[in-house]
Amino acid sequence: MARAFLLLMCCALSLMSNPVTEKIWATNLAFYDYLSANGVDSSILADLDDETFGALRTILAQTPYYEHRDEESGALLHALIPIGDERQISVYYDGERYQVDIIPVRYFVVTETLNAALENSLQYDLSQITGNGKLSSELTSIFEAKIDFRRDLHKNDRVGVIYDRKIRLGRTWGAPIVRSALIETRKRRLYAIYRAEDESYYDETGKTLANLFLKYPTQFHKISSGYLPNGRVHPLLGVIRPHLGVDFAAPKGTPVISVADGVVRFRGCQKSCNHGYGKLVIVEHKNGWESRYAHLNGFASSLAPGSRVKQGQTVGFVGQSGVATGSHLHFEVRKGGQTTDPMALRDVRQNGLNGRQLERFLADAKSALATLDYLADSPESGVTRITAARLSKSGATN
Ligand SMILES: [Zn+2]
Repeated sequence: MARAFLLLMCCALSLMSNPVTEKIWATNLAFYDYLSANGVDSSILADLDDETFGALRTILAQTPYYEHRDEESGALLHALIPIGDERQISVYYDGERYQVDIIPVRYFVVTETLNAALENSLQYDLSQITGNGKLSSELTSIFEAKIDFRRDLHKNDRVGVIYDRKIRLGRTWGAPIVRSALIETRKRRLYAIYRAEDESYYDETGKTLANLFLKYPTQFHKISSGYLPNGRVHPLLGVIRPHLGVDFAAPKGTPVISVADGVVRFRGCQKSCNHGYGKLVIVEHKNGWESRYAHLNGFASSLAPGSRVKQGQTVGFVGQSGVATGSHLHFEVRKGGQTTDPMALRDVRQNGLNGRQLERFLADAKSALATLDYLADSPESGVTRITAARLSKSGATN
C-alpha cells in the first residue's frame, strides 16, 4: 500500500518536473536552424521525401508549438510544430537518434450555435463572444458577394451561426467550420448552408453564394499569359518581371465587361497612354475588391470616374495601348491592394443546384434553417454547445 503510494508520488512528481512547454515559433526561424540549435544532426532530413521536405518550410511565424525536454539534461525529446490546422511536424528522439515525421493534428470537435444582435461591428462583437476573430472572418468570406460589410450592417442586425469548433489541448484550435449561418439586415434574412459534396455554400433556395465575380471579362481566343507573381521574362523588355494579372488574347475592339457590380475609380492613362497599362479602367467592388482592365483600345462612352457599373456591363474595348505585344486584355484582380490570381476565384457559371441535387439539398437544409430562424428570434446573445466533443480522427490526441 505504502509502496503504491510512493510509486504514485514519484510519477506525479516526475510529471510535474517534466512538463510539456508551449513555445512560440520565432519570426524567420528556419526549421534547419531549430534542429542545429537543439544539437540535432540535420542529416536526418536527407531521407525525407520532397513533400515532407517542402512542408518543413511552411511553419508560420508566431505559431505556438510544444516541446518535451529531458528534465536533467534539457535535451529535446519531442517537439510538435503545427503547419496549418491539420498537420504537424513531429521531431522525437527514439533512444538512438532523432526522427522527423509529418503527422495529423488530432483535435476534438464540438458543434456550437452562436446568436447575436450586433452592437458595434460583426468583427468586434463576434470576437467578444467567441474570444477570437476567426468566426467573423469565415462569415465575411461566405457572405461577401451578398453583403458589403462596411456599409450594409447596422446596430441590432442579427446573426445566427451553427459551426464546428476545434479544440486542442483544451483550447480553441484553428478556424471554425461554418455549417450554416444567417445574417439579418433591415429585416431581410440571408442564409448560407454548407454542402459537403462540393464544399460550397448555398442559400435557402439552392443558389450559390459565391457569385461576386464573372469568370471572364471578355470573349477571347486564348489565355496568352497567366498570373505569375514570381516573375516571367517580359516579352518586350526582356527582363524578369512579375505578371500580376491574366492576359486574354482577343481581336481589337472586342467588348470588355466588368466582372462584378461596382464603381469606376479610374478611367484613363496613368503616366501616358504609351506606358505600362495604357488605357486602363479600375472598378472598385464590395469588401475591398477591385478589378483592372488594361491595354484597352477605348472606353465605353457612358463611363466616368464615380459612375456605377453592373456585372456584365461593357467598360471598354480590347486593344494594344501601353506596353503590349499584340491585341489583348490584361485583367487584374486585387483585394485590399494585393493582387490575386483571377482564375483561382470561384466560377459562377454553375450558379445553382437543380433536379435531384436540389431536392436533396432542400430536404437536408430544413432543420438547419429552422435552427437559424430560432437563433435569430431569440433575444440573448451567446454561444450554446449542441453536441458532445468528438475526436477529429481515429487514435489518441496529442
Ligand atoms: Zn498582362
